[in-house]
Amino acid sequence: MTTALERYDPLIYELIRQEEARQSGSIRLIPSENYISKAVMQASGSCLTNKYAEGYPGRRYYEGQQVTDLIEKTAQDRARKIFKADYANVQPYSGSVANLAAYLALAKPGDTIMGLALPHGGHLTHGWNVSVSGKIFKSVQYGVNPDTGRFDYDQIRELARKNKPRIIISGATAYPRQIEFDIFGDISKEVGAYHVSDIAHISGLVVAGIHKSPVPYADIVSTTTHKTLRGPRGGMLLCRAEHSEKVDKSVFPGLQGGPHMHTMTAVAVALAEADTPEFVEYAKQIVKNAKALSEKLLEYGFNLVSGGTDNHLMLIDLRNKGIPGKKLAKALDRARIETNYNSIPNDPAPPFNPSGLRIGTPAITTRGMKEEQARGIAYFINKIVENIDNETVIEEVGKDVLLLCSQFPVPEHFIIQGKNRQLQAD
Ligand SMILES: *Cc1c(COP(=O)(O)O)cnc(C)c1O
Repeated sequence: MTTALERYDPLIYELIRQEEARQSGSIRLIPSENYISKAVMQASGSCLTNKYAEGYPGRRYYEGQQVTDLIEKTAQDRARKIFKADYANVQPYSGSVANLAAYLALAKPGDTIMGLALPHGGHLTHGWNVSVSGKIFKSVQYGVNPDTGRFDYDQIRELARKNKPRIIISGATAYPRQIEFDIFGDISKEVGAYHVSDIAHISGLVVAGIHKSPVPYADIVSTTTHKTLRGPRGGMLLCRAEHSEKVDKSVFPGLQGGPHMHTMTAVAVALAEADTPEFVEYAKQIVKNAKALSEKLLEYGFNLVSGGTDNHLMLIDLRNKGIPGKKLAKALDRARIETNYNSIPNDPAPPFNPSGLRIGTPAITTRGMKEEQARGIAYFINKIVENIDNETVIEEVGKDVLLLCSQFPVPEHFIIQGKNRQLQAD
């Protein structure tokens, strides 16, 4: 934190300081959140925020691109390398814009797209009706099998045969199991659709080889950069060589103006960090922690959608506990445990007060927590559930959480060394 900010704007300085304290003094279980390294933070807060760079390396609309061209090429090369993709566009401002750009590269407004329904774990931008993706395209939505909580690929194939979509979207925002991208690829081929895969949540697991990659089976792969990939907030598109020009045009000038160069610079750093053995270990530990947490929750009698998890997240079906998701999420927040309430597949309750809670382990794993702490967190969650209306107990749990947090400080100072690439204190 610079003293310039402290002196010039004490209010905002103080608010940032409070948010730092809040982040370090609570257990972050929101599966889309993480903590970035100091190196990524530095790149993100650099002078690159001052530069306009509309266009692409070697073909810009403003001068002064001597350095930005090198940064963008570096980010592209690193993305292509770790995702083993022909081409990478590193300009999307976010995952949502990246998705829209992917669709508009391959389809026109009015065409049919087919994605996972929001209440079944899909993202808004997969064609849900309140999103522009559900307004400018004809949207067909598939769900998960209500009995298993998993995809029924035969059903998805049937729906695709019937509706002949222009684009089939694979990927999810709340699906705790492996996704068979090769089957989505097969179905797309069979019905003459393009396959867009959205790995916003799992891209870190994909890079580490823990989740199968969609890159060989998809025309375009979309991802955020800030979830398990552990970079700054942003989006990215990977594609086959044949689609590279369409993708570029769709992002700029199709949807965006100048790219956020400071973000792209930080993305480049995060991609280097993800290309290390430590990152592979990190990703493995995310899944181990999710397994440990889910198994302990099952022991406490919780129901998990699909019965458990293969990845970084799980969805608790709270109906047998008789507590709505929102009420539990708010009680947990008072005990310094951050989660989000979430619909479960075929939720009988409305979306603003759903029956589920979504939790995940990317952020606690960045703090260095292991299976033992993950099981401890399950214990805290169960204790809150059993004492949902007892503020004294909730406060006590909050104190225990603070103690745990102090043993696993937010690694705002972790750096990945160039040579031996150890996670080290600064
Ligand atoms: C988070 C997410 C997005 C959107 O990313 P933003 O950066 O918030 O716009 C898109 N798709 C999926 C599957 C996501 O989980």
